[in-house]
Amino acid sequence: MGEDQNMVALVTGAGRGIGRAVALRLAGMGAKVAVNYSASEDKAREVAQEIISAGGSAMVLGFDVSDPGQVEEGFARLMDEFGRIDVLVNNAGVVRDGLLVRMKEEDWDRVLAVNLKGAFLCLRAVAKPMMKQRSGRIVNIGSVMGFLGSAGQVNYSASKAGLIGLTKSAARELAARSITVNLVAPGFIETDMTAVLSDKVKAAYLDMIPLKRFGAAEDVANAVAFLAGEEAGYITGQVIHVNGGIYM
Ligand code: NAP
Repeated sequence: MGEDQNMVALVTGAGRGIGRAVALRLAGMGAKVAVNYSASEDKAREVAQEIISAGGSAMVLGFDVSDPGQVEEGFARLMDEFGRIDVLVNNAGVVRDGLLVRMKEEDWDRVLAVNLKGAFLCLRAVAKPMMKQRSGRIVNIGSVMGFLGSAGQVNYSASKAGLIGLTKSAARELAARSITVNLVAPGFIETDMTAVLSDKVKAAYLDMIPLKRFGAAEDVANAVAFLAGEEAGYITGQVIHVNGGIYM
């Protein structure tokens, strides 16, 4: 896919954090980018404006990834505007942490709905046009917690582990049409999601990271850009860990 002015990418949750870095990185590769948000409209507009100011193309696309009707309607708007879809990055994610014995069902349901069902709904929306085109790149953003497990995050870890199965099964289904599906599993990345953690928790994580630093959103975006690019055409159903070595 590489440096391609016709490449169209949809990045979910692209107003902030990792999604923002991915949107800017793909735009830098020449992609037209649909910048999805659910709550952060102003921030999504800023990302789109940054892309346009740099000479690229972008549209802002508000929808909640967990809502099937909104996903379908949002994707239809993308197709109206850009006419094709080449790259989907399922980045939108939430946490609702709590110990297992105290976890409310609504916190379980919400995290699974956004992180796992949301990825499924977006994947289902793009699959048909990608199959018709006989090309496409899908990158799901998992987490090291889907591999390690995490006390206080049974919902989050389960959603991220679920994405691994989703990735591998979709990769098998779509491979015959030259569509690749991979997962990038970040470790501790400095974004709003981790900014809320206490200094004590952060210090404990830092101690466990062999590279002795937290990751930046751009570290994750680099791996996504590789998987979306020309050189990754023979890679599917795989996981790339971007975690400073905390899980090997
Ligand atoms: P973040 O700064 O909290 O951003 C989360 C993003 O998800 C926001 O753009 C948010 O958009 C979007 N989002 C949440 N619910 C949504 C919904 N229902 N529909 C559409 N978008 C929704 O988090 P981040 O650190 O950038 O995380 C991005 C992804 O990386 C997540 O999947 C997260 O699990 C994963 N990850 C992060 C880390 C880390 O250390 N930061 C580590 C491993 C994995 P709105 O504000 O518009 O709702």
